[in-house]
Amino acid sequence: MRKILAFLFLVAVVGSAAWLVVSRERAGCAEAAPPSAATPGDLHEALWYEKLAGGLVRCMLCPHSCRLPEGRIGRCRVRQNVGGKLYSLSYGRLATAHVDPIEKKPFFHVLPGSRAYSIATPGCNLRCLFCQNWEISQMYPWEVRTSKASPEQVVAEALRSGAESIAFTYSEPTIFYEYMLDIAKLAQAKGLKTLVVSAGYIQPEPLQALLPHIDAYKVDFKAFNPEFYTELTGGSRDPVLQAMKTIRASGVWLEVVNLLVTGQNDGEEEVRQLARWVRENLGDDVPLHFSRFHPMHKLANLPPTPIERVIRAREIAIEEGLKNVYTGNIPAAEGDSTYSPTTGEIVIERKGYYVVRNHLTNGLAPDGEKIPGIWR
Ligand code: SF4
Repeated sequence: MRKILAFLFLVAVVGSAAWLVVSRERAGCAEAAPPSAATPGDLHEALWYEKLAGGLVRCMLCPHSCRLPEGRIGRCRVRQNVGGKLYSLSYGRLATAHVDPIEKKPFFHVLPGSRAYSIATPGCNLRCLFCQNWEISQMYPWEVRTSKASPEQVVAEALRSGAESIAFTYSEPTIFYEYMLDIAKLAQAKGLKTLVVSAGYIQPEPLQALLPHIDAYKVDFKAFNPEFYTELTGGSRDPVLQAMKTIRASGVWLEVVNLLVTGQNDGEEEVRQLARWVRENLGDDVPLHFSRFHPMHKLANLPPTPIERVIRAREIAIEEGLKNVYTGNIPAAEGDSTYSPTTGEIVIERKGYYVVRNHLTNGLAPDGEKIPGIWR
């Protein structure tokens, strides 16, 4: 009898695991995702969708444009068709909340030396093989320990922490759009700056509607090579290029990060193309950060990016005419600090995420050069 019970238990465990694997695979499909196997929690009706015939809905938040039959969940794992309406499953469900140096986002031209109250929910609309936060970004809401927090509670906690801003970060804020929007409105009314740390994979209309409530946007641009996007992220490049142009044109402060993944997107010509595109389409003063990759997630077999390749990327971008180029994940590098574009003198000296000296006064360097950004 004991043997039979043990056998039945084994069958149940293997069956559940197989269901989870199959579900994950199917979630990668553009048209549909698996029905929820767990209570999705509080539902919050989504913005940016349309109802189609036969109870289908089409999500219009990101370029995947998921078309979802009843019960199905989008590729981001957090938007579900329930009864012919699209709902967010992540509204008010925090997977994490930390107070970080704003430089860790990284924002180098926004309130240097300040702290950002940083939050995330589960889910993401990309599938980056090198994701650094895959434990929350590649999960359904019920696979991650979350805590409930209303927008009012998030803003109150941010104020209590002494942070000067709220950062929507770690996973992908686009997919908790409604929650982010409600928090951002309240936060700005209370004098907090609002920061989005995103891959920029969002449709133009929801982006335009969000921007009036955001002070600064950081876009993690994955690679200038479009094939890198399709093969390593599950997204596509051109919507992100468009999103960066839209953000810049809106007047919202923009910084761009490019993670250099060893042997994948760190070639000199590709870096040069990116720098040139930034100068021609966004302007020569948009901060561009080149960040060093560390083995992670599904690319744990790759070595870290050679430090000299990251330093060379910065040199190339400067050669292409960009004024504010930084390096990240390299200890004590020249690319940590901000320099006057006319004299080359250090204006903000940093060591990693920490500001050692700040010589700016009202956004002006000691030589009178105006440094663009959001300053005190
Ligand atoms: S936000 Fe989610 S549901 Fe909407 S289109 Fe993108 S992946 Fe699909």
